[in-house]
Amino acid sequence: MGVVVNHFFSLISEKQAVKKSTSESVSLADFQNLIRDMYYEKDARRGVDGTFMWLMEEIGELAAALRDGSHEERTEEFADVLAWLTTIANVADVDLTQAVIGKYGAGCPGCGQLACTCPNEEKP
Ligand SMILES: [Zn+2]
Repeated sequence: MGVVVNHFFSLISEKQAVKKSTSESVSLADFQNLIRDMYYEKDARRGVDGTFMWLMEEIGELAAALRDGSHEERTEEFADVLAWLTTIANVADVDLTQAVIGKYGAGCPGCGQLACTCPNEEKP
């Protein structure tokens, strides 16, 4: 009996693992909506200035993780930086999807190419 039950649960967890691995994709718009749903009221109360300070703190943590951290720590810090950047976009009422498409949707904003051909001394 115990073996049957355990087998049943292992089947469920295998299915969930498959489901999880096939649905591990999130659009920028989905992510911005997720962050808005989770945090908007707190974020709006804190405002852009306070939120920007949190972003800077997270960027500092990313710098430290890139220098000394494990891959897992680096991965977490990238997620945090992206989340705080997205938070500021919400508070400032900026649609990140429109921002990205507007600026990078047609290629490099400097040279207009999909593989940048700007001179090395320039920023892109
Ligand atoms: Zn370019």
